[in-house]
Amino acid sequence: MEGVTNPVPTLTLNNGVEMPTLGYGVFQTPPDETVAAVEAALATGYRHIDTAAAYGNEREVGEAIHRSGVERSDVFLETKVWISDYGYDATLHAFDKSAGKLGVEVIDLLILHQPLPTAFERTTEAYRALETLLADGKVRAIGVSNFMPDHLTRLMEHASIVPAVNQVEVHPYFAQPDVQAADADRGILTQAWSPIGGITAYRDTGTGSVFEDPTITTIAEAHGKSAAQVMLRWHLQAGRSAIPKSVKAHRIAENFDVFDFELTPDQITAIDALDTGVRGGPEPADVTLEAFGRDIPEA
Ligand code: NDP
Repeated sequence: MEGVTNPVPTLTLNNGVEMPTLGYGVFQTPPDETVAAVEAALATGYRHIDTAAAYGNEREVGEAIHRSGVERSDVFLETKVWISDYGYDATLHAFDKSAGKLGVEVIDLLILHQPLPTAFERTTEAYRALETLLADGKVRAIGVSNFMPDHLTRLMEHASIVPAVNQVEVHPYFAQPDVQAADADRGILTQAWSPIGGITAYRDTGTGSVFEDPTITTIAEAHGKSAAQVMLRWHLQAGRSAIPKSVKAHRIAENFDVFDFELTPDQITAIDALDTGVRGGPEPADVTLEAFGRDIPEA
């Protein structure tokens, strides 16, 4: 696509692959809205899309990329293997399912969606399949999601390749500094899910919505920006990857318009102090096949 000047800087993953700092997420985007939403994101300038087998919209993400006119090589495509497809052979096949639905030969970043703490050998076997896919050139980078520091330790007792990314819940009300430190110690990039704290608004976490936090709205007013834009700067200035989601064109644009201002160190400190320690998503230790397993359809 011509005419889009792309301001998004990139982060260099631990294997040298470049990934745009700011991406676009599609969790809870209904399949029948996904093509239009992802096309709007690509037209806005996003060049990194985060989906998952479990979101049920990989086919529509692929269709949007195909229709957009943006070169495949200009889009960083990230997806996730669901726990029901863990195990060496099952995870190799999960790649075929996702790549088939996405309509691509190569996935830029393939990650394990959750650890399975009570069936960890399935998790390590799934990761071993990711290592094979990487060696075979079918994926350009591999990683994990919702891994706590002890899960990383257990994984690395078996794995030979350090995950490039750990995608975890990070927003001002739940920043997981211990996880971020454990990632950094191992050379793993922390990628923030629910980066603008959407989960504090669409789920009752008991903390209230971070969009209405007075510290954040005051900082936003000082910059003539929105609360979401301030939160995205907070990630970018910390060197984290962030993947905000919206199905609304004006918010897709708003969440991308974050490259023309800078938070001061005091403002960053004030946002850091908002951490409540209250998780919005499921406790990783509670994720089991029995409770969360579900069939991922063939391509
Ligand atoms: P976000 O922090 O991106 O917030 C999204 C929510 O906020 C939506 O309800 C959206 O509504 C609304 N919103 C978006 N932009 C704005 C704005 N500028 N002002 C006010 N409201 C806004 O939360 P998500 O939980 O969606 O996380 C983002 C992505 O992270 C997901 O799409 C997915 O890719 C990934 N993710 C990964 C998980 C994992 O386990 N690995 C778990 C959860 C998310 P609307 O669409 O109506 O604009």
